[in-house]
Amino acid sequence: MFSKTTFTITINPKIPSRLERLEELANNLWYSWDRATRMLFSRLDPILWGAVGHNPKAFLKRADESVLLKAAEDPTFLATYDSILSTFDSYLYEPSHQDKTNGLLLKDQIAYFCFEFGFHESLPIYSGGLGILAGDHCKAASDLHLPFVAVGLLYRQGYFLQTIDNQGKQLAIYTDSDFEDLPVTPVLHDDGSEMRIEVALPDRKVTVKIWMVKIGRAKLYLLDTDLPENSPQDRNITHKLYGGDKTMRIEQEIILGVGGVRALHEMGIKPTIWHINEGHAAFMILERARMLMRQNLEFDSALEAVAANTIFTTHTAVPAGHDHFSEEMMQTYFEPFYHDLNITRETFMALGHTVDHRDFNMTALAIRGSRTHNGVSKIHGNVSAYICRDLWPQIEPEENPINYVTNGVHVPTFLAQEWSDLFDRYLGYDWRSKMCEATFWERIHDIPDHMFWSIRQSLKSQMLFGVRDRLAEQNTRNHGSDAHLDRLLKFTDPINPNILTIGFARRFATYKRATLLFENLGWLRKIVLDEERPVLLIFAGKAHPADEPGQDLIRRISQIAHMPEFEGRLLLVEGYDLRLARRLVSGVDVWLNNPIFPLEASGTSGIKAGINGSINLSILDGWWEEGYNGHNGWAIKPGPKNMEAVLRDQEESQALYEILQDQVIPLYYNRSKLGYSPEWVKMAKHSMVSLLPRFSASRMVTEYLKNFYRPASYQHERYTPNGFEGARKIAIWKNRIRNAWNGVHIRRINMPHNRANFNDVLNFKIAAQLSGLQPEDVVMELLICRQYKKTRLNNFNRFCFKFTKIQDGNEHIFELDLAPEFCGKQEYYIRIYPYHPLLTHPLEMGMMIWL
Ligand SMILES: *Cc1c(COP(=O)(O)O)cnc(C)c1O
Repeated sequence: MFSKTTFTITINPKIPSRLERLEELANNLWYSWDRATRMLFSRLDPILWGAVGHNPKAFLKRADESVLLKAAEDPTFLATYDSILSTFDSYLYEPSHQDKTNGLLLKDQIAYFCFEFGFHESLPIYSGGLGILAGDHCKAASDLHLPFVAVGLLYRQGYFLQTIDNQGKQLAIYTDSDFEDLPVTPVLHDDGSEMRIEVALPDRKVTVKIWMVKIGRAKLYLLDTDLPENSPQDRNITHKLYGGDKTMRIEQEIILGVGGVRALHEMGIKPTIWHINEGHAAFMILERARMLMRQNLEFDSALEAVAANTIFTTHTAVPAGHDHFSEEMMQTYFEPFYHDLNITRETFMALGHTVDHRDFNMTALAIRGSRTHNGVSKIHGNVSAYICRDLWPQIEPEENPINYVTNGVHVPTFLAQEWSDLFDRYLGYDWRSKMCEATFWERIHDIPDHMFWSIRQSLKSQMLFGVRDRLAEQNTRNHGSDAHLDRLLKFTDPINPNILTIGFARRFATYKRATLLFENLGWLRKIVLDEERPVLLIFAGKAHPADEPGQDLIRRISQIAHMPEFEGRLLLVEGYDLRLARRLVSGVDVWLNNPIFPLEASGTSGIKAGINGSINLSILDGWWEEGYNGHNGWAIKPGPKNMEAVLRDQEESQALYEILQDQVIPLYYNRSKLGYSPEWVKMAKHSMVSLLPRFSASRMVTEYLKNFYRPASYQHERYTPNGFEGARKIAIWKNRIRNAWNGVHIRRINMPHNRANFNDVLNFKIAAQLSGLQPEDVVMELLICRQYKKTRLNNFNRFCFKFTKIQDGNEHIFELDLAPEFCGKQEYYIRIYPYHPLLTHPLEMGMMIWL
């Protein structure tokens, strides 16, 4: 053995000046939704493109000089290059066609915080739905010209790569990213030095570096602690997404929340609208309050000022899924904050309390530190309102301030190139600016069926090619024989993709019930193994490495995939990521989703499938409950709420089998002479027409803008001038209300008889003990509704009482004269609650007394 050292040297090519703007293209995530740009790189050297995982920046550092020189002389290449740049420039620099500020103020600036972001496989800092949604939000914000920055963490390892062995065991592989290869650049001071901030953790300060990512016109700032000036442990903080223990998690959340606010401050960015996407980033509230208190505010006023322009979006449908930390841990990390915020330990801890357990809950903090809160679908909005009901103890969940915005997907990212080309031809180039116009999309019906079908088939071929490649690789690694591979790939013929193909790909969390289809294997056999009308099932997805039951699902799928009769009919593909997701959602015929109701907060993969002409077969949960219209796919009605799990799974799987055998399969195989089923095409078109305009990220971000961002800007304007006069006022008023509310009582003085005639004016008279409050501090209200159906409170008509006089020195009399507008039996309620014109939501105090 010789003792010798390996030295390495990396030679980067010199980019020819004619192609110098390739670097710009490689450093803007615009390429994640502009396929032409990605094609441009791939054309230069397809093999290298694959080897660097479709990462333009890594590609440019490794491409051969000769390849670049040749391209710089190649007129066709240059023509494409120039045309891409001109599209890029007009995207970046052309003024918006909407009004310039989108209804915001010129100085407005939105800051969006999230724990993970998924734009493209070349920036692996996402794990699943949450990250991809955040990525899509940024992309749509850029498309809409919003003044938008996002803040996250730059993970050295991101989420894991997945392989699956023959026994169905998932192997999680973590690889370090070389930041030089990622589309990120350090943020610099004017003098060219790298910007750093510091965040205090117990007994030490951690130095944090700030990186910047361009997302079209928007910017994402990523925080990184992996610096020589930090201890090895601290360098590790931003190492892994959802990797470490509780300590790691709280430190990551402090870096994101506290560090994120500091980083923006250090860069001179002054957000007026703050969006917390999921509770992980909620510590930002504390840091912002601390910064405001340096301007001489009391904590209560500072919290009001912070909350007034903060939006919190929750994404979880189970209380256990909400992040929480023990009080001991909070004490360790936040003791200095009690002093800085000038509050007691108890007051501090109370910010994170929920009724049912004593831990410090990040959702509770986020809600207390924001004034608009939302779930991510209609059902999830209701579920969240119910889960969080105790934060507004006297308000019925259906009326509390938790709202919803249903998720959407960034269409340019997830719509296959073939479709955008076809739209260019059949709908005109301006389809991109008509994303939310439902009637415009009706024109999809005008696309000739055979054209439509041939695109579906071509996307399916591409998907099958991709799946075959992955399976071949999987087979080789798992020492499978060629004969075995042949058996596996028997039904995936990309040349003739005529087998009905059903896809199921998502995180293997147990509530998603990946194995529901296997409830009754006998029935499944009958369905799948039919010689005349065969079915191919494709499964993919990752389970969190700490989630054993989730990994068991993978084992179970693998086991069934290995049963001789299912071999080749049921494929389990490893390494689910954005790339595989794009392939699968656009390529399969049917997208299956069968979570346990109501646990799918929204789900987005089905939207991606639907806009590409795949047809959804899904439990009516999350977004699908809003998207399903009776002829754009198939729906499984969830069993009644309190049904026993075993029974529920039985019933829902039975519904699934029935839909497959009676509807899906006959419809697909009812082929005309032309080789496809016209009725199938019709349904696929319905799916695109109905989903494209309603579930795009443009629609989603526009709703955030209208319902939350603009009101937040407005509230900010009302709370901040004159040294936060508004915030101080509301804080003082709230304290007054809190102190008095227990003493408030109401009793009736006069109510009408329970029979009256139409047009009669009814007099209602209520006496209130206001316990020191003034009549203008409260609203006395009557709610009335016809009794014949069960109605939600917000469907009642409301009428306000007028304060008329003080009686006996201490009772305030409120009166209402009302002539009901309907006939028949009506039900009505009378209630009182605190009111101030500066409130953001009328019921934000959570106080109400019913008569
Ligand atoms: C869209 C997407 C998800 C989210 O899908 P769900 O419908 O929430 O399961 C997860 N992972 C990837 C890679 C995706 O593209």
